[in-house]
Amino acid sequence: MTGAGRDVHDAHRKPVTAARLYDYYLGGIHNFPADREVGKALLERTPRLRTIARDNRAFLARAIRYLTSVGVHQFLDVGSGIPTEGNVHEIAQAAVPDARVVYVDIDPDAVSESLELLEGNQFATAIRANVREPRAVLDHPRVRNLLDFDKPIAVLMVAVLHFVEDSDEVCDILATFRSALASGSHLVVAHATIDELVVDERAWEKTQKDYRRQTSTALVPRSRSDVARFFDGFEMVEPGLVWLNTWRPEPDMVDEFRDKPEHSGFYVGVGRLS
Ligand code: SAM
Repeated sequence: MTGAGRDVHDAHRKPVTAARLYDYYLGGIHNFPADREVGKALLERTPRLRTIARDNRAFLARAIRYLTSVGVHQFLDVGSGIPTEGNVHEIAQAAVPDARVVYVDIDPDAVSESLELLEGNQFATAIRANVREPRAVLDHPRVRNLLDFDKPIAVLMVAVLHFVEDSDEVCDILATFRSALASGSHLVVAHATIDELVVDERAWEKTQKDYRRQTSTALVPRSRSDVARFFDGFEMVEPGLVWLNTWRPEPDMVDEFRDKPEHSGFYVGVGRLS
């Protein structure tokens, strides 16, 4: 894919969004000039953002492959983003052709692009909803139609919970999801952190401010213990809560953060509900 972008739309008036910024980092085509302008500025300050975005997608793919291998065939992908290479339904349905996937995002463009891609796929759909309203997600008719809550479901919270500012609220959100899930269900989390990084406080504050101002979305990195709390009620799958590229790495994997895994700035983990 190229970064040529969708300038054909009257894009200048579109607000910058977290979904399109992420698409820009991934080299996708679903971003507008304003997204690229903000994206470039953030990249100048943190050039490794592109690698982190790609490695985050690779973690997601490894987690899906693991989950299908242990018999999880249903996925609720919250904060799913704009479709890109290696989407959850593609990976899951490559292993299990009738694996079911519901994509959930607050961003209307992410949802409409997903629905377009999923046309004709009877086992996958997308809905627009806010992770902060978990009941609205769980009770959504398309979620209820496609997913069987009596069987294991993997709830994917990949690179989304750091957009919810309050940690107690995140715990409440996850408790609501957990209470709706059958035994054998899983929770997958990837979360930004600045643990063990030497961060220029002022530059970081500026990044956060820019993020909030430009995308009206908070970006809240959390400590390892804060993220670990999100797995309350779940048993951690080996190797536990770890740096991005160290979760079940695959043999041919290129890892730019091998010597300094903390530079990935992401904790990831998978928990199982017994
Ligand atoms: N999960 C995908 C991945 O890891 O590749 C996409 C991650 S992208 C960084 C974050 C996504 O979360 C964006 O598409 C954004 O629109 C979505 N998002 C942010 N806040 C949200 C909220 N309150 N509810 C639902 N989605 C949200």
